[in-house]
Amino acid sequence: MGIRQEYIEKHPGSKRLYERAVKLFPSGVTHDRRYLNPFPIYVTNALGAKKWDVDGREYIDYWMGHGALILGHRHQHVVQAIHRQIDKGTHYGACHEMEVEWAEKIVELVPSAEKVRFTASGTEATMMAIRLARSYTGKKKIVRFAGHFHGWHDAVCVGIQPPFDAPNSSGIPEESLQNTIVLPPNDLQELETQLKKREDVAAVILEPSGGFGGVIPITAEYLKGLREITLKSGVLLILDEVVTGFRYTPGGAQQYFDVSPDLSCFAKILAGGLPGGAVAGKKAIMEYLEFKEDPHWNRYRKIPHPGTFNANPLSAAAGVATLDVIAKGEVIPMADENAGHLRNALNEVIKSHEIKWCVHGEHSILHILMNHRCPKQRTCDRKACTYDYTLAYQKDPVLLGLFRTAMLIQGVDSIGDHFWISWLHSGEVLERTGEAFDQALKRLKEDLPDRFDFPD
Ligand code: PMP
Repeated sequence: MGIRQEYIEKHPGSKRLYERAVKLFPSGVTHDRRYLNPFPIYVTNALGAKKWDVDGREYIDYWMGHGALILGHRHQHVVQAIHRQIDKGTHYGACHEMEVEWAEKIVELVPSAEKVRFTASGTEATMMAIRLARSYTGKKKIVRFAGHFHGWHDAVCVGIQPPFDAPNSSGIPEESLQNTIVLPPNDLQELETQLKKREDVAAVILEPSGGFGGVIPITAEYLKGLREITLKSGVLLILDEVVTGFRYTPGGAQQYFDVSPDLSCFAKILAGGLPGGAVAGKKAIMEYLEFKEDPHWNRYRKIPHPGTFNANPLSAAAGVATLDVIAKGEVIPMADENAGHLRNALNEVIKSHEIKWCVHGEHSILHILMNHRCPKQRTCDRKACTYDYTLAYQKDPVLLGLFRTAMLIQGVDSIGDHFWISWLHSGEVLERTGEAFDQALKRLKEDLPDRFDFPD
């Protein structure tokens, strides 16, 4: 039986729910990444590193709340904090102590954070950071790098995937992209040349891991060079730490790489599995969100910032509890170690299958390059992957979809070629993942033999 047929037979409950969902949601899903042909699984509960679906099937979870759950599902400290808060109210339409504590934690942990403003998501955080940069500098252009992801507001919807000069969506007026400059990643010379040529750049924004959590990673030297060039050119540096924040170290990638941005964006781990984001940065820039005793400033210079769910008490409670645990220092090294073991184990499986796949990644993130044409093959250390970025982001949606399906049959749920690893993914969980990967590859080679056979 083929992978897809077996999947359909093993998931009758999910199939039934999808039949209802597809009448309601475009393509039946509420997030593009959850879309799966023939249908996704429907989950009923989760604990630690695992989750269960409506058909009673168990999965090792590598979505981990899209990267929000480095502590695993239902960490008791977080759950209790949320329960306590629910009993006291979920939205006061007022300031509250928990938001103060939440921001204090950020300022304590994140080296460059002087002031903080909460948003409801990472997308809102990057949108705010870009607006702050434009207000502060009075300049329009934003430099971003090919293959980096900053959410889905207009200004950052170009440069995400090949072809990098085309927006990744319809419905974006050309005019909205006129102020976005897409440059190749990891190329300091090109950045310097561009910044020397122009006077109109407000900020450079990037993921300090490299795009999409480090598909093509970047180095400390690159980030240091980037900081020097931006300082020299009077251009602000925005680190999008939505992924790396509270993951690379308690103080994020900026602490790990010892690079001090002007503004940083956070979400995911920040809010402990509930919705939430934040911008943190220099007082002089964050000042553009402040009220002053100056009607002209308030009307024409200040950035208005409403948002019904900014710093909502539930997210604040989950966020404070999560950052509390992370600050103790145990979680991140354990998650990193687990990820290292898993990367090695999966690369061993790949070797035994003699296929041109490669597992790499840094800290607690794992990426799979499928059918890559990397000339280094398996001779590099994979850490400082220098694979051609124009190829790294080219996906084979059929292979990727069927890989996910095959892994689900084996009891592993991942975002296809991207795994988030928590401190709880250890021991038998990792062993089972390796076995599942091995089985899934066997099945894939049977179902899609042509996808594994290409000339050098
Ligand atoms: N920036 C980065 C680096 C991200 O990975 C994401 C989400 N995956 C975002 C921004 C957008 O965050 P959100 O999904 O909370 O809008």
